[in-house]
Amino acid sequence: MRIVLLGPPGAGKGSLASLFAQRLRLAHLSTGEIFRHEMANGSALGRRVKRYVSSGRLVPDSLVVQVMTAQLGKKSGRRGFVLDGFPRTERQARGLDRVLLRRRQPIDAAILLTSPEALLIRRLSGRRVCAACGANYHLRTMRPKMPGRCDRCRGTLVTRKDDQPATIRKRLAIDHKEAKPLVTYYARDRRLYRVDGRGRIGTVFVRAMKLIRRMGWWHDRAQNRRRA
Ligand code: AMP
Repeated sequence: MRIVLLGPPGAGKGSLASLFAQRLRLAHLSTGEIFRHEMANGSALGRRVKRYVSSGRLVPDSLVVQVMTAQLGKKSGRRGFVLDGFPRTERQARGLDRVLLRRRQPIDAAILLTSPEALLIRRLSGRRVCAACGANYHLRTMRPKMPGRCDRCRGTLVTRKDDQPATIRKRLAIDHKEAKPLVTYYARDRRLYRVDGRGRIGTVFVRAMKLIRRMGWWHDRAQNRRRA
C-alpha cells in the first residue's frame, strides 16, 4: 500500500503514520522528522532548511522533492509506504507523481485528515518532542511516564520551536493557502479520501483502516491466505 497523508499541522498525520508503520509494516517517511534530524546533526541540508523550519515557513518545493526522491530510493518498503507531511503543495504533489510514475509505484490514495481549527491549536500547543530521539508526546493525551522525560530513551522533552503560539498561527495560515490546490489536485482524479481526524488516535486509526480495507488497498496475511 502506498499512501500520502494530507492535513493541516496538528491533524494527527505523524501519529497515524506511526501506527500504520507499526501495524502494517509500512515505511514511514516524514519530511518534518527528516529535516529535524538533519538540523540536529548540523548537516549541510540541516543548515539549508533551518531558517524555514524554525520560522514555520515551507522549505522550497524543489529542495523538498529532491530530498524525498532520494529517501524513497533508499526506503520505499517491501509492503509500501506512508508519506507524512509531504506533499504539502500542488507542485510537490506533481513532483512526487513524476518520480513514482518512473518507478511504476503510483500512490493508492491521498488521505485527508480533517479537524476543526480550535482542536489543531490545542493539539499543537500541548505537543512535546524528545530532543534526543524525536518521539512525540502530548501534555494531555499522550503523557510520558516520567514528566519531561522520554519513555523510549530518557531524553528531555521540549516544545518544538515551531509549536510556539505565533508560529502555530503562521503555519496554519500557510497551510490554509496551500491546501486548497493540493486537495483539488488529488480530488480531480478521484484519489482523495477524507477521514475524520477528531478523537483519540486509536479511533482515527480504526476509521482509516475501515476505508483502507473497503478500498482493498491493504490485506493482512490471514486475509491473503484465505484468498489464495
Ligand atoms: P511538520 O513536522 O510536518 O509539521 O514539519 C515541520 C516543518 O518542516 C514545517 O513547518 C516546514 O518548515 C518543514 N516542512 C515539512 N514538510 C515540508 C514540505 N513538504 N514542504 C515544505 N516544508 C516542509
